[in-house]
Amino acid sequence: MNIKLIPKVELHCHLEGCFRPATVMELGKTLGLPVPTERDAFREQWMITRPLQSLQAALQCFVNIQSVWCAEEAIERLTFEAVEDARDQGIRIIEFRYSPDFIKNGHAHLNFEKIHNAILRGIAHVDESEIAVGLIGIVQKTLSLKDAEYTTDFIIENRETFVALDFADQDTHALNAYRPMVDKARKNGLNLTTHAGEEKTVDAAQHVRDAIEELATERVGHGIHIIDDAGVMDLVIERNVALEVCPTSNWLTNAVPSTAQHPIRRLYDAGVPLTINSDDPGLFGIDLCHEYQILRDEHGFTDAEFDRCNDAAATHSFISLDRKRKAWPREIKELK
Ligand SMILES: [Zn+2]
Repeated sequence: MNIKLIPKVELHCHLEGCFRPATVMELGKTLGLPVPTERDAFREQWMITRPLQSLQAALQCFVNIQSVWCAEEAIERLTFEAVEDARDQGIRIIEFRYSPDFIKNGHAHLNFEKIHNAILRGIAHVDESEIAVGLIGIVQKTLSLKDAEYTTDFIIENRETFVALDFADQDTHALNAYRPMVDKARKNGLNLTTHAGEEKTVDAAQHVRDAIEELATERVGHGIHIIDDAGVMDLVIERNVALEVCPTSNWLTNAVPSTAQHPIRRLYDAGVPLTINSDDPGLFGIDLCHEYQILRDEHGFTDAEFDRCNDAAATHSFISLDRKRKAWPREIKELK
């Protein structure tokens, strides 16, 4: 089947990493920002298309893009185009995540409310019957605990328009430090996903175990290095924790040596619940269809296997069953 026509679910997509180069170049002119005006220079300086030295180096590349998220109209347009691009590649259910702190940083005239409302306006441009859109609020693990609490409270106050929290970026505190915030968010009906087990380190699988045992995370962002630890793989399967796998992203951040050597096939065959995602499609110059093509060409994924991943993703999506059912063509099982 033509990949575009496969109904898809995407659960791990950073809104700030979604953009059309032409739009960013145009916004550069209107907003008076130093965005390259030539396509090649833009690709070279603003996008990551070759593996970087480290995850930290990749995160640094977000700084350029962050500068464009500086005005409400720009935020609304970037969001609208991200939803439109998702819909146009056959995505029926999508959860975008963004970091209020990341966007606000250095933009004194913005605040969390203005940012969130501009994003909601961007989403509202696209018909809800065509694509169900959910928002995950990111709490950066690099924040002080006080700032992390502040951001968590903002997400909780806006629980009608957020579906979950995500603890992202590199660890600076033990995960159990976030437990009170997670408990409060859960009491208010929010779910949890956690970036863990992305970089290949000696304790990568342990980070996933901690996220499950200490925070009871319902999903894990990446988590691919559990492949090295049978005990953690069993735990993930037993608790039915879904991994949000992003093959090209893992290659570009050197989490795996190549997409062909990605452990996704072994994880799938072992029965790990997994979902297929693009992470930062604009930044990487890819889209979700590109990831499906890689899995078909390099890992032999069949259309039936894609359907199985997508049905699992529909189940694991934090968007309400009611809204998901309106957008998804098959029956959606409830998460036990
Ligand atoms: Zn991510």
